[in-house]
Amino acid sequence: MHYPAVIAIDGPAGAGKSTLGALLAARLGYLYFDTGVMYRALTLVALRAGLDLHDRAAVEDLATRVVIEVAPPTQDDGRPYTVLADGDDVSWPIRSPEVERHVSLVAGYPGVRRELVRQQQVIGQRGRVVMVGRDIGTVVMPGADLKIFLQASLDERARRRANEVRDLPDPPPVTQVRENLARRDDLDHHVMHAASDAVVFSTDDLSPEEEVAWIMAYLARQG
Ligand code: C5P
Repeated sequence: MHYPAVIAIDGPAGAGKSTLGALLAARLGYLYFDTGVMYRALTLVALRAGLDLHDRAAVEDLATRVVIEVAPPTQDDGRPYTVLADGDDVSWPIRSPEVERHVSLVAGYPGVRRELVRQQQVIGQRGRVVMVGRDIGTVVMPGADLKIFLQASLDERARRRANEVRDLPDPPPVTQVRENLARRDDLDHHVMHAASDAVVFSTDDLSPEEEVAWIMAYLARQG
């Protein structure tokens, strides 16, 4: 059985990309790489440095200097992986509402995308990887052998995201999560398109396990 070297999973926030990506990677013995953490880590470092996030040149310059690393979990506290920014463990702070509010602004800068896409491509080119994001199938790894685009309603996505962050010290109410998602949908719109050869799933009615089963059957049919 020949499995694709790269599997790209794209879609809006809260569509279930991370859950599906992690399950699929575990099933195939692949690396799971959530590219959103890079935009989040850069945003956090910029906020902590007191940078004016509207200063595009300053943020773009920072993107070329920050060293962002994603590694297997170093602590048993429910994290799916450990994220380091310049050596600091930022695995939880990158999930904060403040980062969520600003990340799409930062991710919208062309110089930021150029630099982070370049770093993502280095990891993607090693193969045996499930990459999750917004533009993986269209920009980062347009040659990926399998591309999946996930969709789900805003209400369902808000419910899932609120559930994911409920253990944070000050968890936001679902109404705030919903508002934030709608805003990010709007801002992320220009970077997020389903590739013309992507398999599109609506995850409102499918469980992640059903999606994995569907994909494994699909891969088996492709031989
Ligand atoms: O997927 P996640 O919600 O963690 O992504 C955070 C933000 O990073 C997104 O709202 C988007 O602005 C940006 N992003 C991106 N391209 C990617 C992944 C994430 O622009 N490939």
